[in-house]
Amino acid sequence: MIEAIVLDWAGTTVDYGSRAPIIAFQKAFAQFDIELTEDTIRQDVGLDKMTHVRKILQTPEIANSWETKHPTVPLAKAAEEIYAQFQVEINRVLAETAQLKPGMTELIKFAKAHHIQLATTTGYTQAMLDRILPLASKQGYAPLYNITSEQTNLIGRPKPDMVELAMKKMGISDPSHVIKVGDTVNDILEGKSAGTISIGVVDGGNLIGLSQQEVAHLSIEQRDRYHARATAILKEAGADEIINNIADLIPLIESIDDQQHEMPLLLTPGPLTTSFTVKETMLVDHGTWDDDYKELTQWVRRELVTVGHASEDDYTAVLMQGSGSFGVEAAIGTAVPKENATLLIAANGAYGERMIEIADYLAIPHVDLKVDEDQTVTLDAVEKALAAHPEVTHFAMVHCETTTGILNPIESIIPVLADKGIITLVDAMSSFGGVPIDLTQFKVDYLITSSNKCVQGVPGFSIVLAKKNTLSTTEGNARSLALDLYAQYRTFEDHDGKWRFTSPTHVVYAFAEALRELEQEGGVTARTHRYQTNETLLREGMQNLGYELVIDKTVQSPIITSFKFPTTDFNFRAFYEYLKDRGFIIYPGKVSKCDSFRIGNIGEVSADDISRLLNLIKTYTEEELKIPVSR
Ligand SMILES: *Cc1c(COP(=O)(O)O)cnc(C)c1O
Repeated sequence: MIEAIVLDWAGTTVDYGSRAPIIAFQKAFAQFDIELTEDTIRQDVGLDKMTHVRKILQTPEIANSWETKHPTVPLAKAAEEIYAQFQVEINRVLAETAQLKPGMTELIKFAKAHHIQLATTTGYTQAMLDRILPLASKQGYAPLYNITSEQTNLIGRPKPDMVELAMKKMGISDPSHVIKVGDTVNDILEGKSAGTISIGVVDGGNLIGLSQQEVAHLSIEQRDRYHARATAILKEAGADEIINNIADLIPLIESIDDQQHEMPLLLTPGPLTTSFTVKETMLVDHGTWDDDYKELTQWVRRELVTVGHASEDDYTAVLMQGSGSFGVEAAIGTAVPKENATLLIAANGAYGERMIEIADYLAIPHVDLKVDEDQTVTLDAVEKALAAHPEVTHFAMVHCETTTGILNPIESIIPVLADKGIITLVDAMSSFGGVPIDLTQFKVDYLITSSNKCVQGVPGFSIVLAKKNTLSTTEGNARSLALDLYAQYRTFEDHDGKWRFTSPTHVVYAFAEALRELEQEGGVTARTHRYQTNETLLREGMQNLGYELVIDKTVQSPIITSFKFPTTDFNFRAFYEYLKDRGFIIYPGKVSKCDSFRIGNIGEVSADDISRLLNLIKTYTEEELKIPVSR
């Protein structure tokens, strides 16, 4: 994160073309009958002014001229006299000196909105600066700290002392979080020696040295030539980046922040890596009673029905505070009546088992169909269980069983049961948004997901997509006040999108942005494609490195992939830490019958990220595990 910008004054933020000191120098020397060319002055701009006067006087030509014209005054004395005159002259051009350059207002606004501190360093004296500050402030520019070399024992540029003092005052210790900007070689050197990101400004800077009017009269070719020359000089000095207008810092900072935001990458099945823009929506606070917020809630509910390929006439989305399990518990606890009902639960992993536990807690009569973790639930097995248990009225299963990453065939099971009049519930927590789901075609009564899975929002609420006809018959079923799905539904409907109890406002805003970004990506089809590409790359890459799969690739979902430990004494913790130190967070295994770990393919993750991960795992396997890799 960029925390601060340290800016130069003349030619960078004020005084277009850095004209004021030039004019003041020329006039000061002219008082002593010495004519200075601009070039002579510009060679050493950025130094503190006394040093600068001395440097000019050391030029053989000027030194000669002085000795001829003032034979009785030694050079050391001359420097003092000229410097005094310089101060008189520069005060005369003060208004011009303090005039903000174009782009500064935008930069100041951006810095304020992003809590980036502004400080300055300069070659001006404290007395000079004290006169400029109020003039700049009147134009909206009031940097927090303004450092001159008088504050650093007269150690000025190109030494790092002034920047270091500014950082100390701002409470920043890591110079890689600081940008130093200036228009001269001495500025670039100062930024480099302090270890900051050192950036050069070309437009209106000292290296071009022309006023705004003069620039306006240049031909395009002339202007290009000036630019190319200034750019080359700043690059040669070691600038990390060169910008034209000072406001070009804004996209530059955003891209630096973006790169740093990508780290670390969560390769986990939710919470997962979200986009910067999704995270950014959470910087604003909202009230739950607010009409905009209620409208947003309604929009989110409608949009979710659309993502499920259903019509609002048939389906509704009920949002429920809490994690995914809260939604599963609310759905089961509300869907199943208190009398004359039995729930059949198919389980081939931890989330199926969790539904069994929920039924136990709620004292709901249930029949369990347990299937091996590496096998899918089949229609055949479900029909056999139904035949053996004619009392079953409700059926629940998991779509993508995140325990292994196996994808159960709901499309071949749910419609058949629906046609038999059985009420169906599907935990599609980790698949909705990442695998196409057609509610209408599947005839599912309740499908549950959450904000922090494949729609790519952050944790905070669960979602139950319910068939309206079914949900409307469930009044009074709930075994819990807070997890009453029917009551939650009625409140949304009867109060224009008002949540029943305090809702996770920030999460809802982030989720709405995530839904828009799902659409921008090309909907569920495009997202499935991206996840599938990640999964294939990961699975095949890992197999090439000698890692074995837990489940067969024919039943593998694009969501998350499980791998067996490569050796019996494999230290998962060490492997995890190694990857974490390099920016990737993976997931431990959950399979009961073998030791495994999992890597998620979902979230704001690209094929490039997976390739980088594979390279790291290759190195780890060869160098730490000492397992030869054939690839
Ligand atoms: C994530 C997930 C859940 C919900 O787990 P929480 O920890 O409550 O968010 C339920 N089922 C499946 C299949 C999941 O992947």
